[in-house]
Amino acid sequence: MDKLSKILHERVDTRSTLPNVTPLYQCSSFFAESDYFYTRKANPNTTELEQVLKTLEGCEFAGMVTTGMAAISMALRFLKPKDHLIVDRLIYGCTYKLFQDFCAHYDLGLDFVDLTNAEWVRSISPQTRMVFFETPTNPFLKTIPIETIRRQADQIKSGILLVVDNTWATPLFQRPLTLGADLCVYSATKFYSGHSDCMGGVISTNRNDLAETISQIRFLSGGILDPHSAWLIRRSMQTFRLRMQEHERVIKKMASFLHAQAEIERVYLPEVGGQLEGYGCILFCELKEQFEANVDRFLSGLSLFERGTSMASVVSAVAQPYFGSHLTLSPEEKKQMGIKPTLIRLCFGLEEISDLIDDLKTALRRLHD
Ligand code: PLP
Repeated sequence: MDKLSKILHERVDTRSTLPNVTPLYQCSSFFAESDYFYTRKANPNTTELEQVLKTLEGCEFAGMVTTGMAAISMALRFLKPKDHLIVDRLIYGCTYKLFQDFCAHYDLGLDFVDLTNAEWVRSISPQTRMVFFETPTNPFLKTIPIETIRRQADQIKSGILLVVDNTWATPLFQRPLTLGADLCVYSATKFYSGHSDCMGGVISTNRNDLAETISQIRFLSGGILDPHSAWLIRRSMQTFRLRMQEHERVIKKMASFLHAQAEIERVYLPEVGGQLEGYGCILFCELKEQFEANVDRFLSGLSLFERGTSMASVVSAVAQPYFGSHLTLSPEEKKQMGIKPTLIRLCFGLEEISDLIDDLKTALRRLHD
């Protein structure tokens, strides 16, 4: 045989290697006898990660997609022409914009409401097909009671799909599917990856009908997570509990430090207990209004906090939602949400608490320069 033909067919015998860790299946297709068929449908790395996430969430189905926004877009595929969507007003800026664009493009009804106010049910109409929210909310970390929303919705109209973005709580601390949600979505880019080195999204459900549609749509639309990202996130899941426990320990100390600082007007933390059994590493704080012109000095005075979109990682991060996660919203929309330039989002990584405190003290002093 020509050696160039031969090298095309060289293979290591994978049946005899018996690795301790599932290797990366960096391949687009499989032999006809394989349970796998084409990576756009399924791949061992993606399937293994889905099994891990199903076990963690205690649910029937978890589908990996490319990003958190792809998971949210997948949920939108359950809307039909003329349907109406209700969304809690406190929500990640890109989700807000996606809903606006999607509903305008397909001529669907859309209402942003405050789901913590029982009056929200007035916005339910015969066309209402879906209610979507994050809890705790981004920003301000408000709790939206999932069981109550389920009950309130069912009292007015049956069959409304309840979709919860559980990214910030994670199934370790909150299980929306057991509280009445039909679908859960996650940005796996955050706590699941935990290292700011890859992106991913998850959509999970206990309903077979929804799971089947998701698998079919994912195959046809090509939104599945790639094997390498799946492999990285699967590895990160081995330390998920340890990271979350450390995040929980750190945030309590950091919140009490921040509460005591004269430059800070308010610290926002979610209510823990009941629906939310614990909490990770993200908080918001409002700097006093008198420091508005100096916010940038504070941000650039931090040396242990990465700036930008990094979040829920082993390294701490700081962001100014007004110019970051909610940048695409108009000043009026930001005002309605209560987002001012003095609102700061802090995510604590795995650094020593004393180092984080020293860094924050130095940066807070710069507000007085
Ligand atoms: N949901 C929440 C709550 C988020 O904070 C984000 C991103 O910050 C997303 C979804 C989108 O996730 P991704 O960036 O993986 O698309």
